[in-house]
Amino acid sequence: MANLLWLQGGACSGNTMSFLNAEEPSACDLVTDFGINVLWHPSLGVELGDNLQRLLNDCVSGNTPLDIFVFEGSVVNAPNGTGEWNRFAGKPMKQWVKALSGVATFVVAIGDCATWGGIPATAPNPSESQGLQFLKRNHGGFLGKEFRSKAGLPVINIPGCPAHPDWITQIVVAVATGRGGEIGLDELQRPKTFFQSFTQTGCTRNMHFAYKVSATEFGQRKGCLYYDLGCRGPMTHSPCNRILWNRQSSKTRSGMPCLGCTEPEFPFFDLAPGTVFKTQTVMGIPKDLPTGVDKKGYIALTGAAKNAAPAWAEQDMFIV
Ligand code: SF4
Ligand code: SF4
Repeated sequence: MANLLWLQGGACSGNTMSFLNAEEPSACDLVTDFGINVLWHPSLGVELGDNLQRLLNDCVSGNTPLDIFVFEGSVVNAPNGTGEWNRFAGKPMKQWVKALSGVATFVVAIGDCATWGGIPATAPNPSESQGLQFLKRNHGGFLGKEFRSKAGLPVINIPGCPAHPDWITQIVVAVATGRGGEIGLDELQRPKTFFQSFTQTGCTRNMHFAYKVSATEFGQRKGCLYYDLGCRGPMTHSPCNRILWNRQSSKTRSGMPCLGCTEPEFPFFDLAPGTVFKTQTVMGIPKDLPTGVDKKGYIALTGAAKNAAPAWAEQDMFIV
């Protein structure tokens, strides 16, 4: 049996909603099939007031072993580093986060706010928000660069806005069944199994990308959303087209550009207002090129692709 405790800082509850929607395995499977004992969760926990404080203090003191500490939402430090804007169970939430991370075997950050600071940490960041071990792409965050949980691992980051439900439950199961040490993490501490490939992997529009055929409006079933509509699929690490949402679709499959929500820069606030769904170009070349492709290579590739594009690449592939 593994004890799991889930707390929520500066958050909209989106990752909790996502978690409760998990299918493979579901949140209930965690309890019935994988022996996970949910000590407390903001939407599921029954303890309140003194009882909740006792439960949390028992974890901090070691009376109740804490195997997995899950945190959703940003760590709020405002005002002036006190954390008083986000009080929970009698004190600033950040104090609970520090104490519980110090005793937990594994610490898991769920969603962009807990991993990178997310939308709350967007400049000018009035809530002084941080992620657990990152602030945007800067390593450190609230717990500091050197932090390791009792298992010897840094915070396991599962980003997304929200994170896909099955990314959450599958990692929790891996940790609870003693395979936590085997989770390979990338340089941003994301499990490689989910975040090594790009959103583009498995996208049904790949052939349109290859032949440089562009979609010109949302929901269109032909064309690639990269050339005009700002799709970040070729630069974003996520399995959204491999592990489908609701087991049947993804943003790009339904004609919506990927916004790059699993990368620390999300929501890409450096873009000028009104340009989020518009590909930024310099002399006709996209400012953000697919990862690993340089300008020269891009020009050569797209020139050849345009010349080679067959007539069918311009057609709607999904006739109902
Ligand atoms: S750029 Fe976007 S729409 Fe085009 S193939 Fe890649 S993920 Fe799909
Ligand atoms: S498709 Fe892109 S924006 Fe949508 S959830 Fe996946 S990574 Fe995030």
